[in-house]
Amino acid sequence: MWFIPDGCGIFCAIVTWFLVFYTEFVVLFVMLIPSGDYMYSAINGIVFSLLAFLALASHCRAMLTDPGAVPKGNATKEFIESLQLKSGQVLYNCPKCCSIKPDRAHHCRVCKRCIRKMDHHCPWINNCVGEKNQKYFVLFTMYVALISLHTLILVGFHFLHCFEEDCSSSSPTTTTLLILLGLKGLLFLIFTSAMFGTQMLSICTDETRIEQLKKEDRRWVKKTTWVNLKAVFGHPFSLGWASPFVMPDQGKADPYQHMI
Ligand SMILES: [Zn+2]
Ligand SMILES: [Zn+2]
Repeated sequence: MWFIPDGCGIFCAIVTWFLVFYTEFVVLFVMLIPSGDYMYSAINGIVFSLLAFLALASHCRAMLTDPGAVPKGNATKEFIESLQLKSGQVLYNCPKCCSIKPDRAHHCRVCKRCIRKMDHHCPWINNCVGEKNQKYFVLFTMYVALISLHTLILVGFHFLHCFEEDCSSSSPTTTTLLILLGLKGLLFLIFTSAMFGTQMLSICTDETRIEQLKKEDRRWVKKTTWVNLKAVFGHPFSLGWASPFVMPDQGKADPYQHMI
């Protein structure tokens, strides 16, 4: 099993889980159940819990999936000979983890490994976002954005209801909790939807954030948006794209095929 023993990352991952559970608790036990409207509470409670469950499942998959680590210490003479390089082909090796670096791989200081198509190291999932776990990371940002939006709508409805009818019976603690929940929802909605947008853009254009920042020249073949999406979410297109339980079928591409 893949797991990065990084104290800061583990702390951030625990905070993420705590925030989702805290939101779930306040939504269910402060807002929905005391509302007295059985149908409204049941439908919203089920939708919210399902989205929260999918967000946490995506988080687990993103954290515990190997993002595409290059085997450590494979820069040996035997391995290089087994690649049967043509004359003129050049290999890059990473001095930090003694591995042969496939094209588009980058070394991560936290993971202490070279990661294929590394996008960035995210402390919130305590892992790198790379070739093999990008789908789970994108789903995580999407489901957190959706639960944040749902929270904001529910808080909005709650206060709207208070304007129409008298809510003087609700305690100041409840009001403070709901205002804090609304602010947290807004903050997370902005942050995760921006992250989701930039991730989708980088998938569609097949350019990782590191490549965008370093303004690297494109050495890889340009493909259509649809092909790029299928490379991350799996093919063919199905409901499995939105499921953190479906491992994307990425084919068996040779990571050393692009070396020139
Ligand atoms: Zn390395
Ligand atoms: Zn990393």
